[in-house]
Amino acid sequence: MHPHVKKLLELQKVDQEISSLTKDIDSLPAEEAKRRKRLDELERIAAEKRARMTKADLDSRALDKAVMGSDEEIKKLNERLNMVRNNAEYQATLFQIEAVRKDRDVTQEECLKLLESIEELRKEVAVADEAAAGERKIFEGFLAEANKLRASRAGAVGEVRQRRKVMSEGVPQDLLNEYEALYKTRDRQAVSPVDNNYCQGCYNKITLNDTARLMGGSSVVRCNSCERILYLPR
Ligand SMILES: [Zn+2]
Repeated sequence: MHPHVKKLLELQKVDQEISSLTKDIDSLPAEEAKRRKRLDELERIAAEKRARMTKADLDSRALDKAVMGSDEEIKKLNERLNMVRNNAEYQATLFQIEAVRKDRDVTQEECLKLLESIEELRKEVAVADEAAAGERKIFEGFLAEANKLRASRAGAVGEVRQRRKVMSEGVPQDLLNEYEALYKTRDRQAVSPVDNNYCQGCYNKITLNDTARLMGGSSVVRCNSCERILYLPR
């Protein structure tokens, strides 16, 4: 076997070991992002409901103030009623009082409706807050578990990575790059055995010429179909 291929084969065993050690850890960032998105959405809904409640509260205060203003105005008009000197003026003031009262009643009706809606919103805010708080608790639990898992693997992974670094010494950088790219794209098998003239990575037949080169052991041979680096198992 070509000495570089021999090294790559050993490297592949170590890489497969790292892969199985980090398989669950590798999926953590995606899982975290997914959970964070769900939490953000629930918090956004709660904040939006709270903002609506705050606005309704401000609006109802403004309406209440307007009602009080109208009451004040009606009071003044009633006082004027006692001082008018003729019937025409009296009738006009009465008419004015009636108009202000009508407006006042409409405003008060609006204010009452708003107060009712605030009660509903208050309930919705409580439900949304509870949902967000529950999700946050779950999310924090997940983060703690994830960190625990990472910490527990850190030693083992570090040890294997160190071993890997030593093993890859002596392999030309471009071959190493080729191997690493294949490892990622060929389902963690960059170096593949040949059995009975068939590449065991893709099960396609290799040429007689390639078989001869493999037996010679002096060149790096690749599968024509899947591009994996080939070797002949003893
Ligand atoms: Zn192949």
